[in-house]
Amino acid sequence: MSDLVSIFLHLLLFKLVAPVTFRHHRYDDLVRMLYKVHNECPHITRVYSIGRSVKGRHLYVLEFSDYPGIHEPLEPEVKYVGNMHGNEVLGRELLLQLSEFLCEEFRNRNQRIVRLVEDTRIHIMPSMNPDGYEVAAAAQERDISGYLVGRNNANGVDLNRNFPDLNTYIYYNEKNGGPNHHLPLPDNWKSQVEPETQAVIQWIRSFNFVLSANLHGGAVVANYPYDKSLGHRVRGFRRTANTPTPDDKLFQKLAKIYSYAHGWMHQGWNCGDYFPDGITNGASWYSLSKGMQDFNYLHTNCFEITLELSCDKFPLQGELQREWLGNREALIQFLEQVHQGIKGMVRDENYNNLADAVISVGGINHDVTSGAHGDYFRLLLPGTYTVTATAPGFDPETVSVTVGPAEPKLVNFQLKRSTPQAAPKRRIPNSGHRGRVLPKKVQPRAARKKETLMKQPQRGPA
Ligand SMILES: [Zn+2]
Repeated sequence: MSDLVSIFLHLLLFKLVAPVTFRHHRYDDLVRMLYKVHNECPHITRVYSIGRSVKGRHLYVLEFSDYPGIHEPLEPEVKYVGNMHGNEVLGRELLLQLSEFLCEEFRNRNQRIVRLVEDTRIHIMPSMNPDGYEVAAAAQERDISGYLVGRNNANGVDLNRNFPDLNTYIYYNEKNGGPNHHLPLPDNWKSQVEPETQAVIQWIRSFNFVLSANLHGGAVVANYPYDKSLGHRVRGFRRTANTPTPDDKLFQKLAKIYSYAHGWMHQGWNCGDYFPDGITNGASWYSLSKGMQDFNYLHTNCFEITLELSCDKFPLQGELQREWLGNREALIQFLEQVHQGIKGMVRDENYNNLADAVISVGGINHDVTSGAHGDYFRLLLPGTYTVTATAPGFDPETVSVTVGPAEPKLVNFQLKRSTPQAAPKRRIPNSGHRGRVLPKKVQPRAARKKETLMKQPQRGPA
């Protein structure tokens, strides 16, 4: 009898964890899939919405963690965002596949996945533009798909050109001194962006994300910041020029991790374009302003890259399995990259956690800050670094750290309160996102000379 029950239970279990089929998922179907995965793995998942689209559809996120809904100090947060352009649909389906895969493999005690879920808080948003998707999918069904049908949100706005433009400030500040991280938003920013963009901005401000990828289609390449070239405003034609961040080598490595773990991205020739190693600096491909990738880097602690995953923006259903197999390892390896560099706690002498402490690395003009729990994460390539922690009212503390290729190095700081006479007017390199005022006049003109014109992309925007 108990054998029969056991067989029945196994059959039921098999049915419950039967894989997401390889088909396109309309909005209702997508919501069902997210809850299906949650029901299969209730102890390591949580479904939440960060807000609504113009048409009132939820922007759902599926979270994976050993403690869903809770930030555990020293456990990094990482995110994937798909389908920001409603007609670029592969990312949406890959993220559903990934969700099911993480759940199943965790249940199968796949040690790699168990470790990933236990050590990482993973946030997966399959669709940032559910309204655009419905337009694209409806057009596809009627076989009237234009190249850009469904790309924008329901107000006709391209969401990847809709974030506050912080690049101009940073280009000025890099030359003339000034903050290089957590650049402030204009007071009226909410009135300047679409509901989807506003929801995402509030989301990425409320979690201390460390690493992220934004999944697109229309090419096959891993694209890293900056997306906006210095001379973006030149009239008549778009300037393109390699426009590296201070973390250029790290970003190249992150992009290569994806392209080399991907089935064919690293080969370089895809969709009629050639990208060495399957990666590109965004601005050197084509310059775009107000993108999400640059915004993540300039306003938060998060390092984001943009993954272009298919020549066809709306691939045939029959292609989906091959695409999943081509991307699966890359999607996992990229998540694992959040565990590198240094991390630690910033505390005062009484072991109180210090939020918003600034972590500076000598030679890299881009700081990160500690989160609400006093923990910080600084992605770094292997090497030896001078790392300084500062916080208002405390003496800075500097240490030398050697980072290896595997585990992140744990580097804790315990800051001493400044003595009253030493506190004021101390100048600390790379610090001070608080209380410093951005220059009113920004003059990127000086940098224009250096630029070289490069070939324009043959295809439309990806
Ligand atoms: Zn796109």
